Amino acid sequence: MQRPLRVVILGGGTAGWMTAVALVRVLKPHQCAVQLIESDDIGTVGVGEATLPQMRDFNAMVGILESEMMRRTNATFKLGIEFRDWGFLGSDYHHPFGAHGKPIGGVAFHHQWTRARLAGHDSDIGEYSYAIAAARRNRFDFPAEDHQAVNSTYNFAYHFDAGLYARYLREVAEGRGLRRIEGKVRDVGLNPQTGDITELRLESGETVEGDLFIDCSGFRGMLIGQTLNSPFEDWTRWLPCDRALAVPTERSKDFTPYTRSTALEAGWQWRIPLQHRTGNGYVYSSAFISDDEAATRLMGNLDGMPLADPKPIRFRSGRRTASWTRNCIAIGLASGFLEPLESTSIYLTQVAVQALIQLFPDRAIDPALAREFNRRVDNEYDRVRDFLILHYHLNRRDDAEIWRHCREMEIPDSLAETLALFAHRGHIPQYKDGLFSPPSWLSVLVGQGLSPSGYHPLADAVSLEDALEEMRWWRDQVSDRVERMPSHAEVVADYCGGAEPLRAQA
Ligand SMILES: Cc1cc2nc3c(=O)[nH]c(=O)nc-3n(C[C@H](O)[C@H](O)[C@H](O)COP(=O)(O)OP(=O)(O)OC[C@H]3O[C@@H](n4cnc5c(N)ncnc54)[C@H](O)[C@@H]3O)c2cc1C
Repeated sequence: MQRPLRVVILGGGTAGWMTAVALVRVLKPHQCAVQLIESDDIGTVGVGEATLPQMRDFNAMVGILESEMMRRTNATFKLGIEFRDWGFLGSDYHHPFGAHGKPIGGVAFHHQWTRARLAGHDSDIGEYSYAIAAARRNRFDFPAEDHQAVNSTYNFAYHFDAGLYARYLREVAEGRGLRRIEGKVRDVGLNPQTGDITELRLESGETVEGDLFIDCSGFRGMLIGQTLNSPFEDWTRWLPCDRALAVPTERSKDFTPYTRSTALEAGWQWRIPLQHRTGNGYVYSSAFISDDEAATRLMGNLDGMPLADPKPIRFRSGRRTASWTRNCIAIGLASGFLEPLESTSIYLTQVAVQALIQLFPDRAIDPALAREFNRRVDNEYDRVRDFLILHYHLNRRDDAEIWRHCREMEIPDSLAETLALFAHRGHIPQYKDGLFSPPSWLSVLVGQGLSPSGYHPLADAVSLEDALEEMRWWRDQVSDRVERMPSHAEVVADYCGGAEPLRAQA
């Protein structure tokens, strides 16, 4: 009988522990033996608090109970993101996790909404979204399971302490037999014939051999970049932010079930409410503001007492051209990073872990598996990239250089095509795989100020009066039901109360 495939994960941040817990959950010990090396001295990037609804599928896949996870990570619920000042100073819209309205007369709701608008019946599209209506009133409840119900038309994700999430996953993985090695990897052994990685050598003198190496070493990409030289494709020309300052504040009274993103003079500021504190940060472009000015701006904008000094982080938006190279697979920040505007990084880790499980190799790694993995990961990155650029490009701000620059920059052809289709008649591409779905595109396209000049001709199959009546009915239903929902704070206290949460590490 063959011995199990020896998998070595380098890195114990969110990416390392998500990979570890999934492998030990899905694969049997006779198929794969997993070890994880992490260094407390190096530490993790220490940010990453907002997630997407797909995180729920990941937790279910690895057998994690939601209420327990939320308790242990000081989590709150997230119905979407509020974008302040992104279209123009004073503008405000939400990107919800859920639909706007329901189809009327066989076409998507927004075609009827456009038709009504062109006929002089303008209305705020956000009023037809259950998630937005709940978010605006700081309400939360779980979506109904009956798909006919108005309150089944949304989804949710979490805000959590990512450090506590990684620690929680570590407990689960170690409980299932994973071996964790604490120490710093000093250098990497390669097979002189094939160029494959054979072992990682630690400063302690220990050597860890393996067949498959997962690089979760963060931005440094110790295996995929420093050792195997997989090139990094830099997307700063489209996504100019390259630095962040992160600072926690005391829990604020404004306990929102959504992330807030406020556009500033050189980037944007995040605000993420957790149970025990609020996470804040300024993501900015060093080409448009100095670090000192950014720090002053961030500290002046906080709505609570700071609990620490701002922590600086540098990054580049882009990705590896081949996340799977030889017998090494980069997952997490080692594979690439798209700035955190839409909280997509943990999602990208999740899809890489799922692709790894589906394409899990034998000892002799078939290069076709690597090609397929890279194709899928690239596709995900490209789609997220276009969606992020959309926020920057479609702006009408004239108060700061970065916004003029982004409005005038050349954009990828794929995004230009999407904008043209939407402007012409409200068409939004529907992907089989990858982010984002049409309701997400719709909210940001309209929120950033692009109104279609036409709509799907099938919309005219019902009379305008009937369409308007259905729209009104939906809006009233949403409003009535949301009024009866409990507050976000009540649901969090009720659902996550009981056990003492883990204490955050300094
Ligand atoms: C400003 C900012 C905001 C973000 N916000 C979000 C968000 O809201 N939502 C979201 O989904 N994502 C967000 N992210 C991304 C998120 O932080 C990461 O995806 C996530 O933390 C995963 O990081 P990682 O595990 O890849 O790397 P890291 O956390 O950096 O972990 C690297 C690990 O590798 C180990 N290591 C490295 N070198 C060695 C060595 N030589 N020997 C031993 N061990 C080693 C380290 O000890 C550490 O354990 C954000 C990122 C930034 C920069």
